[in-house]
Amino acid sequence: MILLDGKKTSEAIKKEIALEVEQLVANGSRRPKLVAILVGDDGASRTYVNNKEKACQDVGFDSAVIRYPGDTSEEELLAKIDEINGDPGVDGLIVQLPLPPHIDEAKVIHNISPSKDVDGFHSQNVGKLMLGEETFVSATPYGIMALLEHYNIDTKGKHCVVLGRSNIVGRPISNLLSLKGNPGDCTVTICHSKTRNIEQHTRMADIIIAAIGIPQFLKEDMVKEGAVVVDVGITRVPDATRAKGYRLVGDVDFEHVAPKCSYITPVPGGVGPMTIVSLMRNTLQAMKQHK
Ligand code: NAP
Repeated sequence: MILLDGKKTSEAIKKEIALEVEQLVANGSRRPKLVAILVGDDGASRTYVNNKEKACQDVGFDSAVIRYPGDTSEEELLAKIDEINGDPGVDGLIVQLPLPPHIDEAKVIHNISPSKDVDGFHSQNVGKLMLGEETFVSATPYGIMALLEHYNIDTKGKHCVVLGRSNIVGRPISNLLSLKGNPGDCTVTICHSKTRNIEQHTRMADIIIAAIGIPQFLKEDMVKEGAVVVDVGITRVPDATRAKGYRLVGDVDFEHVAPKCSYITPVPGGVGPMTIVSLMRNTLQAMKQHK
């Protein structure tokens, strides 16, 4: 079993990005800039935004976090997005999800300029992804593809089972893996909460991408010998022995599944760091396009 080490891989990619940024700056360019908007006080969202800010510092980007209280109106948020859309000094804009229930998430996403939508959530960018055109690939699927590529995992003709059909993970990774190319050229099955006998699908999979958010859902008897398993799930499980009072648990019963796998991602240290570095890649790409 080989561990798909997202921490190590993302560090290597970060170094490449940092080097490119310094070269751009040495040639007279400004630094890429990412702006994040955070509405409300959700603990996990705060951590994600802080991690993104830290990653910007690591690779030499400028960054800003705009923090709004949870009762901020949709109008105020949309007005700020408009302002940032028109700011030539900003390359990437992300609005941390989830938003409070009184704000229409779809409307917010559609108001972000597609050229600054480095999360790749705007329908224009999603449409390009579907067609296999160059675009901002949303960060988590982009990170998974980069990890498979980094470890030279042969995906051609393989049967890939994706657990979850969300717009930010399940659907885009299913699409990417079914497109021509490597990683790609897979035969993809998408499973969701209405799928019957899910274990019959997973047992036939050469590659499993688990993205449902149920801790340790994927058990040993659901996986065939030699499978590649990518665990996207992150759930905070209360744990009094930890200083923070919780630990992060993936969708895979790692201890029992790992011995059967050819490759597997850990949680934490697998897909999470790859997601953040992919956002950095998109921001650098946005800056080059804006130039
Ligand atoms: P989501 O929007 O809640 O979607 C969950 C998906 O799982 C849905 O399609 C749902 O099916 C399906 N599902 C739920 N219960 C199921 C079951 N018993 N059997 C089969 N499918 C089931 O979640 P998400 O945003 O995609 O995130 C999934 C997980 O990945 C979460 O733990 C999240 O925290 C994590 N995540 C991690 C990263 C990272 O960087 N590592 C990034 C994003 C998300 P229906 O469509 O039928 O409801």
